[in-house]
Amino acid sequence: MSLELILESARKVHKENSELREFVEWPDDLVKVDQPSENIPATELVSKFELRGTEETQNLIEIIKENTSLVNWQRTYKEEEVGSDFLNRYGYYELIGPEGHYHSNKIRGFIAYWGEELTYDWHSHEAEEIYFILAGSGLFRTKEGEKLLKVNETCFHKSWQSHSMITSSEPILTFVLWRGKGMDKLSVMDEK
Ligand code: ZN
Repeated sequence: MSLELILESARKVHKENSELREFVEWPDDLVKVDQPSENIPATELVSKFELRGTEETQNLIEIIKENTSLVNWQRTYKEEEVGSDFLNRYGYYELIGPEGHYHSNKIRGFIAYWGEELTYDWHSHEAEEIYFILAGSGLFRTKEGEKLLKVNETCFHKSWQSHSMITSSEPILTFVLWRGKGMDKLSVMDEK
C-alpha cells in the first residue's frame, strides 16, 4: 500500500531527527481512514519536483512524488487572501491527524509544498508547529527574526506566533508537525 509507504518513510524521518522527536512522540493511536484522492494544480508540480534531499530525506521525497495522485491535496486559503498564482503553486495534505489519511488525536502531520518565488504571508494558528525541510529552501520569518531554512533544518512556531515564509529561486517541500491545543483547526491569515 502506497500510503503506508509514505507513513513509514515519514516515521523514519521523525525517528532519525532529534528536534522532531523532542517536539512530539510518534503517535500510537493511528487508524487508517479512507480519504478520497483530491488533485490540485500543485499535485503535478510535486510529482515533477526536481530537487534532491539528503540521505535522511530523499526516500520520503521519492515516495511523496510517486504517490501525488493518491492523496487528498488541500489549500487552506481563498484567492482573495493569497492570489491565484499562490493557489496554483502551493498545496498540502494531512498525512496524520484529526482529518488525515491516518487518524490521530495526538499530532497532526502535513506534507506541504510551495513553488519558487512565492510569499506565504503572515498567518498564525493555535497549535504549536515544527517545520522540517525535505528539500529546497525558504526564508522563514517571525516578528522576532528571520532564517533561511534548507534541507534537514527545522523551524518552531509557538501557539498563535505570527509567521510567514518566502521562497526564492527554488521551491520547498516540507514535513510539518503540529501538537497541542487547536490541533483540529487550521491557520488563519493575520488581519491587515
Ligand atoms: Zn504555521
